[in-house]
Amino acid sequence: MKCPFCNSVDSKVVDSRHTDENNAIRRRRECEVCKRRFTTYEKIEEIILIVEKKDKTREYFDREKVLRGIVQSCQKRPVSFEQMEEIVNDVERSLFHSMKREVKSELIGEMVMNHLKDLDDVAYVRFASVYREFKDLNSFQKELEHILQEKENK
Ligand SMILES: [Zn+2]
Repeated sequence: MKCPFCNSVDSKVVDSRHTDENNAIRRRRECEVCKRRFTTYEKIEEIILIVEKKDKTREYFDREKVLRGIVQSCQKRPVSFEQMEEIVNDVERSLFHSMKREVKSELIGEMVMNHLKDLDDVAYVRFASVYREFKDLNSFQKELEHILQEKENK
């Protein structure tokens, strides 16, 4: 960060705090050369992620939409809203850390499913049935058997 007075690049932070809106960090810096002070703002870049759906159409990643799907699957199940939000947070974090600009909706679905599988079987199967669009009872049953098998092997 260049000093606006003498262009020196050596400065130290003397104070940093969140702005009132909490969307930026305000830092007071002191130039090591001319000792004058200046302020910088550090903003979190909003990351835009595009989701490619099964029908090849694209839309912006929408965490509310993911959360809604989870809430629906967890109806009357012993999963707290906090746990549901934690799933979305985790999915969001991994997506953003992957640095991809575009992901397939299937990937998001699989990530959510992996979390639900550990939390609640019924919620998992409900979510999976929507996401994977089980064509018939047969494939649904296969998935159930697969879960039961996995549980036994644990
Ligand atoms: Zn300076």
